[in-house]
Amino acid sequence: MSKHGYLIDMDGVIYRGSELIPGADRFVNQLLDRETPFFFLTNNSQRTRRDVATKLQRMGIRAEEKHIFTCAMATARFLAKQKPGGTAYVIGEGGLLNALHANGYSIVDSDPDYVVVGEGRTLTFEMAEHATRMIVKGARLIATNMDPNCPTHHGLRPGCGAIVAMLEAATGVKAFSLGKPSPIMMRAARKELGLSADECTVIGDTMETDILGGVQMGCQTILVLTGGTKREDLEHFAYRPDRVVDSIADLYDDGRVATKDAARVKNPLKSLRTDDLILGSVELTIGCSGDHHTDATLSSSPS
Ligand SMILES: [Mg+2]
Repeated sequence: MSKHGYLIDMDGVIYRGSELIPGADRFVNQLLDRETPFFFLTNNSQRTRRDVATKLQRMGIRAEEKHIFTCAMATARFLAKQKPGGTAYVIGEGGLLNALHANGYSIVDSDPDYVVVGEGRTLTFEMAEHATRMIVKGARLIATNMDPNCPTHHGLRPGCGAIVAMLEAATGVKAFSLGKPSPIMMRAARKELGLSADECTVIGDTMETDILGGVQMGCQTILVLTGGTKREDLEHFAYRPDRVVDSIADLYDDGRVATKDAARVKNPLKSLRTDDLILGSVELTIGCSGDHHTDATLSSSPS
């Protein structure tokens, strides 16, 4: 039997800050009711899986730790494969520290194998100074993600990518990033769900991470407009999502969303309406004509 599942971004898709996006709970709870495989895929390394699940539960979403896949997990698993039992100097918070410990890493203050940078508010100039000297001495620079900033209730704050940029400029060393759009994180999540690329849809609000990663993996992609991307921004990108919807709430009870009924999801494109299409090639594939394309149209985890 054919199956389908989802990799779902959270910030800007499920919630904004601490506010639930209306209807997101209904959509996710429907996936749970239908036993559709999915992961919440986040580039935020601050929180542990349990922390994230608790936040979602408080918003009325019946998510559990097993539904959460963070860039901190992806980073820690990758390092454990590259150098089992290694050491790391960490600029980051609990989610990242927890994941590294769970994957056999020791956190050290001198001579680390890796300098690992994640999200957080703990950075001091002294930490940047230590990290710079460690990298110059040969420690490898690892980023959980390269997001330049993060939205907050009060506006943007510098993200992990901004901290990494400072260390790159200071040392002349380029970081290796594991978070979205890195195929390392996205492929790991997809494989853990037991899905092929054809069986996986990425839902996100950010073109540069969620949608780019999904396109590069060959998955279906759905952009939601409840986050940072506006419909008019799409023209600036060389790649497009397969669908654009105002909100994830629009996917509730949507015939094109995966259910246990394989026939309905074997080829999600077959049931697209013409006014959902933005890709000329898709129009050709299903034989639509004309001018309708302008209305744009988710173990063994130890951490
Ligand atoms: Mg987002």
